Amino acid sequence: MHNGDTIAAVSTPPGKGGVALIRCSGAEAFEIARRCFTSKSGKDIEEFPLRHAIYGHICNGAGEAIDDGILTLFPASSSYTGENVAEISCHGGVLVTRAVLQAVLEAGARPAAAGEFTRRAFLNGRLSLYEAEAIGDLLEAVNDNQMRLSSVSSRKRLREAVKAITDEMTHLVSSLYALIDFPDEDLSEMSEEEILASLQHILESLSRLASTYRTGRAISEGIETVICGRPNVGKSSLYNALCGEELAIVTSIAGTTRDLLSETVSAGRVTLRLTDTAGIRHTDQEIDEVEKIGIRRAEQALEQAELVLAVFDSSEPLTQEDLALIHNLKEKEKTVIAILNKADLPYGIDRTEIDALTPHVLSLSVQDDLSALHALIEELCIDRALSTGADAILFDARHFAAVTRATDYVRASYEAFCARLPADLAFQDIELAIGALEELDGRGVTNALVDHIFSRFCVGK
Ligand code: GDP
Repeated sequence: MHNGDTIAAVSTPPGKGGVALIRCSGAEAFEIARRCFTSKSGKDIEEFPLRHAIYGHICNGAGEAIDDGILTLFPASSSYTGENVAEISCHGGVLVTRAVLQAVLEAGARPAAAGEFTRRAFLNGRLSLYEAEAIGDLLEAVNDNQMRLSSVSSRKRLREAVKAITDEMTHLVSSLYALIDFPDEDLSEMSEEEILASLQHILESLSRLASTYRTGRAISEGIETVICGRPNVGKSSLYNALCGEELAIVTSIAGTTRDLLSETVSAGRVTLRLTDTAGIRHTDQEIDEVEKIGIRRAEQALEQAELVLAVFDSSEPLTQEDLALIHNLKEKEKTVIAILNKADLPYGIDRTEIDALTPHVLSLSVQDDLSALHALIEELCIDRALSTGADAILFDARHFAAVTRATDYVRASYEAFCARLPADLAFQDIELAIGALEELDGRGVTNALVDHIFSRFCVGK
């Protein structure tokens, strides 16, 4: 299944911590553990029951004790990877953790690559690709909605929905076989009408599933969003209000004040990959080199965005700069939400031009309350009838592509049937559709794809 060498890595995050875990997996794992771990009582570690904590000393190649720790041995039949696994818990200092890993490597293991433990679990049939991907997404989730969507139970719902469709296709294929092989004998369990109805039902189920991707993607991957508007309308205030407490847990890319700021934030259930284009200007004012670079980046961000939050100051008439922005946005095919900010001040704007730009106009004060904005973003990006806790939702581009391919095949076979083409043509397409859906849980996927999926994992996972 794969080269059977024994791998090891630190499975806890780097840095100081109460405890660190060093994991070692492979045919030699128990032997390697015996070479670098001595139980407190001096009893051979293989004399202890499996899956029990053994207290003892961790030693390096020279036989010097590095730390006290706990060793647990998991047999292949009940380990994470499906191989023999030895896990050593030691004190969580940076140096001591490194020394314990070094001792395990000196005893015969090789350093694990990123995601290699989970990859082995997949190759050994301990995890489906669904579950492996769920773990990868869970590690990357930055908000509750993403976490809920990438949970193992959410994947299970998806797998069940896909299985129901695949089962119906398999049933159909067997009926078609009978029709092809014995056309004159009434062996087919299904009449032609029933076959057509079943094809129609499969198509509907696939289309319904495919349609959930819009929501899944908005939650998991997030919507590329930019904030734009002339200076002083309240862009930074909006950016900060949307970022809220999340600033502490997400990455910031901050440059000069005239550069772009980016954050991943939640707006209700939607994840936004938000960029504040502080520098966009459309007048002929003299601008310096740094500002020019900022403006170019802002234009690029605007090009890549799917959603634009265009901010205006509702206490003042539109300026030339506002009109230039409206003009610029009209030329782009983006979803635009116009925010008439500073609604707490006396109203002084003529919104005719803005209404001509977009039907989505909100009058609010970004300093006060963004709930109307959150609600509008949800309405535009997700299907509110779907529940992340109860429905099967596609949220992975790979899965969506497979479901779309399966839909195309089934549609082709439906059309072939309606056109009364030979049954074996339709049969071929349904088999291809089954193959496409089987890719979701890893059957028939290429090594390159498996490599790609596991490359997202960290070392030690
Ligand atoms: P930017 O230049 O577009 O990023 O605008 P800022 O976010 O820096 O805001 C410009 C000014 O408008 C600041 O003094 C803010 O305090 C003020 N401001 C922002 N939003 C509001 C609002 O909703 N109401 C009022 N009255 N002032 C606001």
